[in-house]
Amino acid sequence: MVDTLRLMHVHAHPDDESSKGAASTARYVAEGVEVLVVTCTGGERGSILNPNMDRPDVLENIGRIRIQEMDAAREILGIQQEWLGFVDSGFPEGDPAPPLPDGCFALEPVEKAAAPLVEIVRRFRPHVMTTYDENGGYPHPDHIMCHKVSVAAFDAAGDPGMYPDAGLPWQPKKLYYHHSFHRQRLVALHEEMERRGLTSPYAERLQEWKPNPEWDRRVTTRVECAEYFPTRDKALLAHATQIDPEGPWFAVPLDVHQQAWPTEDYELVRSLVDSSLPEDDLFAGLRRAEDDLPTGVQ
Ligand SMILES: [Zn+2]
Repeated sequence: MVDTLRLMHVHAHPDDESSKGAASTARYVAEGVEVLVVTCTGGERGSILNPNMDRPDVLENIGRIRIQEMDAAREILGIQQEWLGFVDSGFPEGDPAPPLPDGCFALEPVEKAAAPLVEIVRRFRPHVMTTYDENGGYPHPDHIMCHKVSVAAFDAAGDPGMYPDAGLPWQPKKLYYHHSFHRQRLVALHEEMERRGLTSPYAERLQEWKPNPEWDRRVTTRVECAEYFPTRDKALLAHATQIDPEGPWFAVPLDVHQQAWPTEDYELVRSLVDSSLPEDDLFAGLRRAEDDLPTGVQ
């Protein structure tokens, strides 16, 4: 078993590390786990979603500002962070959707785009990796591409025949998908808001969102991290161009989140260790043996 546990999150844009899995990240950092966030693109084509930051001087310098925002979030979360260096594809809007811009991340061949990630996996040697599901969590082309390169890197990093120039082989033991915005969580938040006599921001969305038990069953692992929700909020707010403090992210009070849904949720999709489902820990099956002994056993 291992002494220092290492966790690698692969994300598409700066801010994704703060909107998906940030509280469980902060908890693992507090417990001594080394966490590396790999950010595939610079987020250069992200729209400015905070009216206070929607200014020409911000727009002109958006690439540099997003790097500074990421630096601030990295400090708040206590993580390491690296850029993969690809260019944001932007979210194609319109019907029909316009073609993706030349040279963007989502147009790169997967095999080529996975190469720098394999190099980082072999250098950082994570025990656990996370990424998005096959739909990207939401259908941004960079999120779907992030899924593809992460799965490709997880499968290739331990194989000495693959990417022989990218360092010594290292096989991460578990791969998870984030499930941050699933219906069950939204229902719980909605019901707690109503119970408190507060206006839920989710009423309309839930009317259209039909239950899908098959999808709900995909969550295998719920990591308790309510204590770290304030850290998650702070990290999100560090991405000032992307997050409106008056917007929907903060329409539900912190203590409603803590009470109604105190976990962040994941789906275990690859595992080379034994752990029984459901889990409450991304490192289930990887802890040192003595940590797993029942009380009273020396
Ligand atoms: Zn994103």
